[in-house]
Amino acid sequence: MPELPEVEVVRRGLDQFVVGRRIDTVEVLHPRAVRRHEGGAADFAARLTGRTIDGARRRGKYLWLPIGEDALLAHLGMSGQLLVGPPDEPLSAHVRIRFGFDDGGPDLRFTDQRTFGHLLVSPDGAELPSVIAHIAPDPLEEAFDLKRLTARMRTRKTGIKRALLDQSLVSGIGNIYADEALWRVKLHWARATERLRASQIADLMAAVTEVFTEALKDGGTSFDSLYVNVNGESGYFDRSLNVYGRASEPCYRCGALIRRDPFMNRSSYSCPVCQPRPRNGRW
Ligand SMILES: [Zn+2]
Repeated sequence: MPELPEVEVVRRGLDQFVVGRRIDTVEVLHPRAVRRHEGGAADFAARLTGRTIDGARRRGKYLWLPIGEDALLAHLGMSGQLLVGPPDEPLSAHVRIRFGFDDGGPDLRFTDQRTFGHLLVSPDGAELPSVIAHIAPDPLEEAFDLKRLTARMRTRKTGIKRALLDQSLVSGIGNIYADEALWRVKLHWARATERLRASQIADLMAAVTEVFTEALKDGGTSFDSLYVNVNGESGYFDRSLNVYGRASEPCYRCGALIRRDPFMNRSSYSCPVCQPRPRNGRW
């Protein structure tokens, strides 16, 4: 599953390669890719043909391209990719939508092996598409408000990691980066949000921003060729992981063996010494 830094890399690539260009042709090769678009494939194509892409924006793991008042919204799902390449290159079996441009330059291909991703046109969505208006800003956005998040977290009776993954509180933080940030500030994932000090939440969010920024530094230069690419399975962020996926390996800080706990059908990785388990929720 692509996480925020990977999606931001795609956004930067789109910004570089498709913004300012006029869409000439839209081919929907698989109807599932536009299943969330209200008018279906023909309407999707009609709304975009002949129009110019004005920008490339992101909130959490959603990307959108403002097009006049409207927006082309993309969610990459598990395996979605946006590829930019030569128009005469043969279409791979997993290309779901192809956009051609009137300048005859590189085309844009939405490929998605598992078809969990989707694209749609959001009328009047240029500023913020309505289908994602309920999603809170992510920590890299200007609209992100630490005070508001802190106040909301402290009135919830929940664990800190659940709160980090709750898109109505803060968006864009997935399982991997939640574990990494919690390890950095030495907080166990089950710590009760209402008992955390404002300074602890501030430190945690600073750590989230830090791991995102470092991941971007590692992965952000991978599109110097003419490709905009995201692949949740790609390993180029792996080397910067301190705790995620390291069960039974020594903690880089104290040497204790990293533990793995089941968490919401997934796993949480933490250090038993640096991040002691809360007792009776009273930590
Ligand atoms: Zn440790």
